[in-house]
Amino acid sequence: MEISTNSLNNDELVCPNCGGENLHHGTVTVYERDREDSATGRIVSTEDYVVANTSMKGNPSARRNGLLIGFKCEHCDADPVLAITQHKGCTYFHWASYRKDEA
Ligand SMILES: [Zn+2]
Repeated sequence: MEISTNSLNNDELVCPNCGGENLHHGTVTVYERDREDSATGRIVSTEDYVVANTSMKGNPSARRNGLLIGFKCEHCDADPVLAITQHKGCTYFHWASYRKDEA
């Protein structure tokens, strides 16, 4: 789902499911590749632990770097995930998922 004006309230990111303004970011996953298609490194940071390995599982970018930021909404159970991806030298962002059953 692309980020639209429905996902923003001025500079404030709002829940893509219910429009609620109270989003709290949690788990952050960073995928870093030193070249196209390589499996260089992944770091997963939660409130309880940090894991570093070379898995590219879940990378929102098919061939390059990616970033996932998980959110909790105070108003619904959507648990939206914001994705930032790199593709052919350009950077994109979108909602990777926003329903609890899609995560
Ligand atoms: Zn919500």
